[in-house]
Amino acid sequence: MRIHIIRGQDQIGGSIIEISSENARLILDVGSELDEETPVAPRVEGLFFGKRAYDAVFVTHYHGDHVGLASHVMPGIAIYMGERAAAVYRASSDYLGKPPLRIDGFLRSGEAVCVGDIRVTPFLCDHSAFDSYMLLLECDGKRVLYTGDFRSNGRKSFSALLKRLDRVDVLITEGTTLSRDAVRPATEAELEEIACETLRQTDGPAFILMAATNIDRCVTAFKAARRSERIFLQDVYSAAIASAAGDGIPNPGTFSGVRTFLTSPTEKQFGILSRYPKAKIGRAGIAREKFLMCVRPSMTRYLEKLSELKPFDGGVLFYSMWNGYKQKPDVAAFLEFMDGKGVRITNLHTSGHADTATIRAMIDDVDPKYIIPVHTENAMWFEKNTEREIIREQSFEL
Ligand SMILES: [Zn+2]
Ligand SMILES: [Zn+2]
Repeated sequence: MRIHIIRGQDQIGGSIIEISSENARLILDVGSELDEETPVAPRVEGLFFGKRAYDAVFVTHYHGDHVGLASHVMPGIAIYMGERAAAVYRASSDYLGKPPLRIDGFLRSGEAVCVGDIRVTPFLCDHSAFDSYMLLLECDGKRVLYTGDFRSNGRKSFSALLKRLDRVDVLITEGTTLSRDAVRPATEAELEEIACETLRQTDGPAFILMAATNIDRCVTAFKAARRSERIFLQDVYSAAIASAAGDGIPNPGTFSGVRTFLTSPTEKQFGILSRYPKAKIGRAGIAREKFLMCVRPSMTRYLEKLSELKPFDGGVLFYSMWNGYKQKPDVAAFLEFMDGKGVRITNLHTSGHADTATIRAMIDDVDPKYIIPVHTENAMWFEKNTEREIIREQSFEL
C-alpha cells in the first residue's frame, strides 16, 4: 500500500488522504479548509477534474474539513459515509438550501467494503459529529488505521472501541489538541451534571448556544433539562437535524419532553413544524413554561419578541461551542444582546478531539510500527513523546 497525504498533514482541517495499491486507489476524507467560506477544490487530477483516477472516497464524518469537497468529486467515483451521518448532513443541506450530496454506499461499523484488493473496515468512534468512523485498511497482509477525528470523553465507550481494534502497521492519527494546553477534557456526563446544577439554581429562562449537528451535546442538554424539570425547546432547524440522527436522539417526534417552535414564518420553517403536530409550541405557550431553549445568533429578533412576553432577567445562557467562535461578529453581537437582556452567560463545553492520554492509549493499543500524524499543528509531539517511528514525509510506501 502507498499512503499519500494530499492535504491536512501539518494543519488542522482540509484533510485529503490517498491510499493506493496494485489495483485500487482510494481517498479518505475530502475536506475543505477550516476558514473557507466557499470551498475550492485543490488541483487533484483524477479526483476533482480530468480523467477519473480514483475508485472510491470514504468520508469519516460530516464536518466540513472532512466532507466539504464531496460535491466536487467526479462522477463515477463512489462516495461512502455513515448512514446516519449522511441523513444529518442531508437535513442540514436541505435547510441551508445546498445541493444534496451523492452517497453511493453507507459505512456500517465492523462491515468491510472491498475496493479492488483493499479492504476497508469502518469502526464507529466518538466525536462531536454523529456517526463518525475510524477506517481500517488492509491489503497484502498490511494494515493501516486512520483515526479520522475522535475522542474518549463522549458518551460512547472508548475502551470498547480499543477492544475491537487489533495491531496495525501504520497509524494515521489526528493530533488536534496537541497545540493546545494539555488539560483533561470534561466528559459529556460531567457537562450534564454542571448544566443540571445550574438549571436547578436558575429561576429564569435558560438557553443553549451550540452546533445543532453536535448530537452528543444535544443529548447532554436534553438530559439536563429533563432532570431539572424543564422542557427542551428545539428550533425547527435543530429539530430537523436531531430527527435525522434517529428516533433515539431527543427530538420532538419521539421524545415527550421536546417541543419545537419556528422563529420566522417561512415556508421552509412551516414545512418542518408540520412534521411535529403534537410537539409544536408558540411564543405565548413558551412564555408560560420552564424551558431550556436551543438558540443561535440569527434568532435575535425572535428572542426580542419573546422577552416582551417573558422577561429574560435572571436567566442563563450556556455557551456550548469552541471559545474561538466568540470572536465571530454575529456570535459576539448575540452574546452582547443576551447580556443586555440580563442573561448570565456561562461556558459549557468540552473538546471533540482526543487529548494526549487518549492518543497514547490508542497508540499503545494498536501498537503501530509507524505513525503518520495528520490534522495537527504539532506533529513534533509524536517524536518527543512516543518511541515509534514517525513519518513526516507526504508519501510513504508500506
Ligand atoms: Zn471533526
Ligand atoms: Zn476535523
